[in-house]
Amino acid sequence: MRPLEIAVAGCGPAGLAAALLLHRAGHRVTLYDRFEAPEPIGSGLMIQPTGQAVLAALGLEDELIARGARIDRLVGWAGKRTVLDVRYDCLRGKRFGIGIHRATLFALMHDAARAAGIRFVTGHEITGCEPRGDGRVLTFADRAVTRPYQLVVDALGARSRLRGETGRALAYGALWASLDWPDAGFDTAALQQRYRAARVMAGVLPIGTPPGFERPQAAFFWSLRADRLEAWRAAGLARWKAEVLALWPETAPLIDQIADPDQLTFARYAHRTLAAPCELAMIHIGDAWHATSPQLGQGANMALLDAWALARALDGASADLARALNRAVALRRRHVRLYQALSLLLTPVYQSDGRLVPWLRDWLVGPLSRTWPVPQIQAAMVSGLVANPLRRLGL
Ligand SMILES: Cc1cc2nc3c(=O)[nH]c(=O)nc-3n(C[C@H](O)[C@H](O)[C@H](O)COP(=O)(O)OP(=O)(O)OC[C@H]3O[C@@H](n4cnc5c(N)ncnc54)[C@H](O)[C@@H]3O)c2cc1C
Repeated sequence: MRPLEIAVAGCGPAGLAAALLLHRAGHRVTLYDRFEAPEPIGSGLMIQPTGQAVLAALGLEDELIARGARIDRLVGWAGKRTVLDVRYDCLRGKRFGIGIHRATLFALMHDAARAAGIRFVTGHEITGCEPRGDGRVLTFADRAVTRPYQLVVDALGARSRLRGETGRALAYGALWASLDWPDAGFDTAALQQRYRAARVMAGVLPIGTPPGFERPQAAFFWSLRADRLEAWRAAGLARWKAEVLALWPETAPLIDQIADPDQLTFARYAHRTLAAPCELAMIHIGDAWHATSPQLGQGANMALLDAWALARALDGASADLARALNRAVALRRRHVRLYQALSLLLTPVYQSDGRLVPWLRDWLVGPLSRTWPVPQIQAAMVSGLVANPLRRLGL
C-alpha cells in the first residue's frame, strides 16, 4: 500500500506497537496522547507468548526478558487446597510468561518509537474524530483540530471517546500496588493467588525492576466490588490489613509497606466489545475494540496482536484502505471473540458474590485440572494460544 498519513490516538501498548510497526512499513505516523510526560502509572501485567511474539518482531524481546520477571507457573489456593495450577512447561516450545510493570513496557516501546523518529503530540485530551473528505481529523478538548489523516487508529483504551457506548462496567475491580519484592515466602517465578469463594482474591506477581525503582517489585492486588470502595476507605487500613493477613499471613512483608490508602490504586473492570471495529478511515484496536476483566491476563497481549494484524493487513493490501481495515479485523476476530467469551465465563468463577460456582471451582475443577488434558488446555488458555492466533498472523 502507498505510504499513508496516519494518526495513532493513544500511547498504550496498542498505540505504541501500531505506531512502531506502521512507521517501519513506511507510513508517516503521528502519536497523540493526553499525558504531558511519561510517568510510571498502574502496576503489573503479564506478557504472554502471544505478546512476546509481537515484541520479538519489534526487536524488544531481549530487553523485555531482562527487565521483567520470568513466570513459569500460576498457582492459586482456597484455604489449603490448590485450586489453580497452570504450568507453562506442559506446552510445547519452552513457553513462559513475563511479569512486568506497566511503566517498563511503556518505556521499552516509547524509547523505541522516539529512537525511530516517530512524532509525538502530548498534553492533548482527544474528544472526537470527524470525517474530512476521504480521511479524518482528531478534535481536542481545547477545540483544536488536527490536519486530515488518511487513517486514524483508535488506541484510546477501554474508555475511548472515538466510539459509541458499548458493553458495561463489571461489579468488581481490584486495588493494586507495586511493592518491594519480599526476601522470602514467595516463588520468584510464579503468579500466586489466594481466594475466599469468589468474593476475595489476593495476588502477588513478580514484575522485575521498573524504571525509577531500585529493587525488584511485586504487583500486589486485592479484589473489591466497586460499590464497596467507599466502605473500604471508611473502615481504615488497619482493618483491611487484618483481613489480608487472615487470608494470607505470608503477605506481611508486603502489607507492612502500605502506610497510606493512596498507595493502592483502584481499577474497575469493564466488558466491552465493539461489533464493528472499523469505519471510514478509522480502526479501533486494543481495549478500544475489546476490553474485559483481566482474569486471563490477555488485554495487553491482544492489543499487541491487533497492532500486528493492522500492519500486516496494510502491508499486503492494494490501495483499497477499507478492504485492508476489514482484513485486519478478520485476522483477529475469531481470537478476540473466543477470549472475550472465556473472560466473561471466568468472571463469576473468580470475582462474584455467588457461592456455587466457586465451590465447583474448588472441589471439582481444581482436582480435575491435574488430569490430562486439562493442564495443557489451561496452559494454552493462559498463554493466549487457543485458536492458534500466531500462525494466522504469520508470527
Ligand atoms: C488492573 C489491571 C490488570 C491487568 N492485567 C493484565 C495482564 O496481566 N495482562 C494483560 O495482557 N493485560 C492486563 N490488563 C489489561 C491491559 O492493561 C489492557 O488491556 C491494555 O493496557 C490495553 O492497551 P491499550 O493500548 O488498548 O489501552 P491503554 O493501555 O488503556 O492505553 C490507552 C492510552 O490512551 C490514552 N488516552 C485515553 N483516553 C484519551 C483521550 N481522551 N485523549 C488522549 N489520550 C487518551 C491513555 O493516556 C493511554 O496512554 C490489566 C488491566 C487492568 C486494569
